[in-house]
Amino acid sequence: MPDTQPRFANNMLSNDDLSLDVIVIGGGHAGCEAALSAARMGAKTLLITQNVERIGAMSCNPAIGGTAKGHLVKEIDALGGEMGKAIDETGIQYRVLNRKKGPAIWSSRAQADMDLYRRYMKHKLENTAGLAIKQDCVEGLIVENDGELSRVLGVETKLFGKFYGRSVVITAGTFLNGLIHIGDQRISAGRAGDAPSIGLAEFIKSTGLRVGRLKTGTTPRLDARTINWDILDRQDSDTDIIPFSFSNDRIKQKLIPCYITHTNASTHQVIRDYMHMSPLYSGVIQGIGPRYCPSIEDKVVKFADRDSHQIFLEPQGYDTVEVYPNGLSTSLPLEAQMKFVRTVRGLEKAEIIRPGYAIEYDFVDPTELNASLEVKKCPSLFLAGQINGTTGYEEAAAQGLIAGINAARKVAGKDPFVLGRSEAYIGVLIDDLITKGTQEPYRMFTSRAEHRLYLREDNADSRLTDIGRTLGLVSDDDYKLFSDRQKLIREITQFVKTKTFGEAEMPQSLYVGNDNSGTKLDTLLRRPDFDVDTLIELVPRLQEYPRHIVRRVAIEIKYEGYIAREQRAIKDSQYLDKVLIPPDMNFKSIPGLSFEVGEKLTRFRPMTLGQASRISGITPAALQVLQVHLRSDRQ
Ligand code: FAD
Repeated sequence: MPDTQPRFANNMLSNDDLSLDVIVIGGGHAGCEAALSAARMGAKTLLITQNVERIGAMSCNPAIGGTAKGHLVKEIDALGGEMGKAIDETGIQYRVLNRKKGPAIWSSRAQADMDLYRRYMKHKLENTAGLAIKQDCVEGLIVENDGELSRVLGVETKLFGKFYGRSVVITAGTFLNGLIHIGDQRISAGRAGDAPSIGLAEFIKSTGLRVGRLKTGTTPRLDARTINWDILDRQDSDTDIIPFSFSNDRIKQKLIPCYITHTNASTHQVIRDYMHMSPLYSGVIQGIGPRYCPSIEDKVVKFADRDSHQIFLEPQGYDTVEVYPNGLSTSLPLEAQMKFVRTVRGLEKAEIIRPGYAIEYDFVDPTELNASLEVKKCPSLFLAGQINGTTGYEEAAAQGLIAGINAARKVAGKDPFVLGRSEAYIGVLIDDLITKGTQEPYRMFTSRAEHRLYLREDNADSRLTDIGRTLGLVSDDDYKLFSDRQKLIREITQFVKTKTFGEAEMPQSLYVGNDNSGTKLDTLLRRPDFDVDTLIELVPRLQEYPRHIVRRVAIEIKYEGYIAREQRAIKDSQYLDKVLIPPDMNFKSIPGLSFEVGEKLTRFRPMTLGQASRISGITPAALQVLQVHLRSDRQ
């Protein structure tokens, strides 16, 4: 049953309703965040998706987070998005990755009960005031000047017909002209079990937007009852779990383990035997796949010297026998899949429930977009998610949130909302996409961010929750929790920075006071050989606070000097991002700029000098010419 009283009266609409503010196409991870943020900001919103039962569906792995993706989820949550809360309700295993490395790259990951996750999202959408849902397929857009790309006025669907809205967000994922490959079998589909989106794909192509082709793939799903679990290595959740959402202090549900096994020489031999039937290697697949998430046949070819690859056997939920063998993505024929799976330890009798496959789909070159994710040539049209060349639920959700915010702000006549590279991974993601474009599915990594020590998971709320509150996305309850937490952080910081330890209070090996003045806690903390957990063990008072908050304060103090240096660098870099370039600037007429640079700037149309500086091929000399020109123009 709904936990809040649904306000259906608000959410009902018919085709005759001409007062829609935002129309979101697609109910995947981008679409859910876009629709929720727009509606929460007061925009009258309609989400149209091909199958309402698949709202929030996980097309591939049953997990949220991971390296740098965990950062995105925390930022989405801090801004008032839903993904963090959804996984906290439905997670079945929690781990922090990279714990042995520096705190900047600690990244949370949780496996999900896919079915519960999907139901959580659908329920959330259904119970959001001002948000209506229709099951239908959008075939094209209604634009101001029929036949050419101009201001968007609404959408045309297969069954309901026309809907008019003042902003439209497309989040069509892998569905645009989607084509599944399993060996030499080809199936036109958006993903397994879903129809492709052909009409919309053709419409987008006809507009002249630059469209490319990418590819991704998934593993076969195995039947848990046919796996020999007893001989496999078990991996449990961490013991000290930090929820994704800053509004949660613990995870209430039961957590379950996953198991680890490995491929071996026989597995690789079967794969080599069938390689000639791989659509990837026979040249049938033209789209480029995700470099960092290769198929098993890719791994066998590219890492030929390795005789084994790790596989995580992840249950897809509490109440299903389907298991996701993470690491076995493939587009080989089903016959090959059945053979190579059974060469793996513990999988000797494994049965495949669903075959693995690769999928090719259309994407739009993201350099067609502004930093608000609005299409440059088509005001009021926003694109978010896999359609922009990214891969991953988290990357999609992050863009969906920003596109939803900006679609609602556009309707309200407000300025675009843009996060900078120094504010959030979300800022890095969007800036990379719109200034560099992408030739392969773009995945977030910590190495993409210049200011990693500042852009940590643990401080995402300090960085972004005030912004989310101003946008109208953070609820009163969540904001109260945030304010209380900030107070606690100040209190712990004050204690650690002022507390002095006498000789008798601490182990001799740690004591460095040379008179009766004792040793200050923050001095101790800055020593490389002294870690946060030792500090907590040593100081009973700190054990009274939640450990993850003490840890967060300690990180801030331990790395204070480095973070301050990063802040100074951020200030310098922000200068260029604040210098605006007029949208109608004629780059080709600027004296001193080469023809190529003029062409490139005309194509990318950067909004700021900072964005211009990050476009590949824009040299420091060209930037200086542009800067001088802007200055003289202003004068
Ligand atoms: P999706 O989740 O694809 O949702 C698109 C939505 O749009 C759907 O609800 C669909 O019904 C709707 N839609 C499309 N066209 C229309 C239309 N015309 N009218 C109405 N509704 C429409 N990510 C990884 O990080 N790692 C991986 O290894 C990985 N492997 C993948 C393997 C496969 C086979 C697939 C399909 C995806 C894989 N992904 C992977 C990607 C991941 O699923 C996506 O990144 C993520 O789901 C994108 O979210 P999205 O919201 O952009 O689109």
